[in-house]
Amino acid sequence: MVDISLRNEILASVEEGFEKQLAFTQMLMRFKSERGQEQECQDFVYDELAKRNYKMDRFRMDREALSAHIGGGKITDQHSDVPIVVGTHIPQDRKGRSLILQSHIDVVPTGPEKMWTRPPFEPVIESDWLYGRGGADMKAGFGAIFFCLDALARVGFKPASTMHIQSVVEEESTGNGALMTHLAGYKAEAVLIPEPEEEMLVRANTGVIWFEIEVQGIPVHVREMGAGSNAIDAAYRIMGVLRDLEENWNQRKGNHRYFEELDHPINLNFGIIEGGDWASSVPSWAKIDCRFGIYPEIPAKDAAEEIIERLAAFAATDFFLRDMPPKITFNGFYSEGYTLEPGSEAENVLAQAHQGVTGTPLKSFVTPGYLDTRVYALYQSVPALCYGPISENIHGIDERVKVSSLKRITGTMALFVAEWCGLERIFKPEPYL
Ligand SMILES: [Zn+2]
Repeated sequence: MVDISLRNEILASVEEGFEKQLAFTQMLMRFKSERGQEQECQDFVYDELAKRNYKMDRFRMDREALSAHIGGGKITDQHSDVPIVVGTHIPQDRKGRSLILQSHIDVVPTGPEKMWTRPPFEPVIESDWLYGRGGADMKAGFGAIFFCLDALARVGFKPASTMHIQSVVEEESTGNGALMTHLAGYKAEAVLIPEPEEEMLVRANTGVIWFEIEVQGIPVHVREMGAGSNAIDAAYRIMGVLRDLEENWNQRKGNHRYFEELDHPINLNFGIIEGGDWASSVPSWAKIDCRFGIYPEIPAKDAAEEIIERLAAFAATDFFLRDMPPKITFNGFYSEGYTLEPGSEAENVLAQAHQGVTGTPLKSFVTPGYLDTRVYALYQSVPALCYGPISENIHGIDERVKVSSLKRITGTMALFVAEWCGLERIFKPEPYL
């Protein structure tokens, strides 16, 4: 049990290391670790974990095993091949409860850089905000993983239980990185992922599926347009059908615990659209990339089937699509959502730690997005806690994370680890501090 004086000592240690923590976070943010380009960042993480004497493991994605798993994201040419890194702490005397601390290092594309106030991969702190792509989502959280443990080491402690620190890729596209750690056999009695969650705990989240729709047209000169078939017009009609389906799924929110109070829990996004070759030619092709949310307890397969059926029914009535039906390819996330059952001991410990740092009770909320915690909630049936700093504009322009919030959640995490894992004394000084 962490008493008040030890608690104060740990929080003072977080404070002491915080400047270093911000510099470390900015180092992580300078890596342009977009999908498939995470190698350098992952090597950096490997070295930093090795420096701290964790037992190191590095392994590749097993595409066959991932594809065979019910929650495996669909693998395409864009899938990252960068290995997963895990650093494991083994205590001298196992007394506490085991823990996985996980972060993803992949970041989403920046969008037009000219819309950014500062270059997205040159992190800058201004007043209480740290700016840059991937800072909030979620390299700040990853820094907090390293530095909550460093804070414990600085006051002479390590966790008294087995702990895995997992650095994954593919969180923004398939969730296969986290799933791969599960397939590789990494398990624990609780999991904490410090995604930017506004200093709150995620109670439930949606699953996500990705798919691409291809429509073929018949190209002719526009002067004889009636003889051709316009693939872009057809894609537009399909988008209307999918928006109706989105509306329909939102109307079903009353059947889903925790989602009934959200305005619009199910979001469909048309993320990429391409098509046509020439302004004066009737387009022969069009392609839309879509992302659809799904309620927990709805298997991705059921949602996918409903989408396929709905589009097939529409295509059968469409003057053009009935002869050339659209082709649907599932090409990324194929993931169910999850609910964190209230009342677990892990949640209680986090709530106490949060209260100890912020002086306020831990709130929980529901998010309409994908989270890697689903792997542990669904396939290991352990409390999977998603909790992290206040942020703005993730996946947008001028993404930023609140510096004072980052310090608070690092303190919460240090106290959480101390209480959940227990502590054991270390007798030799740690050279990396
Ligand atoms: Zn994230």
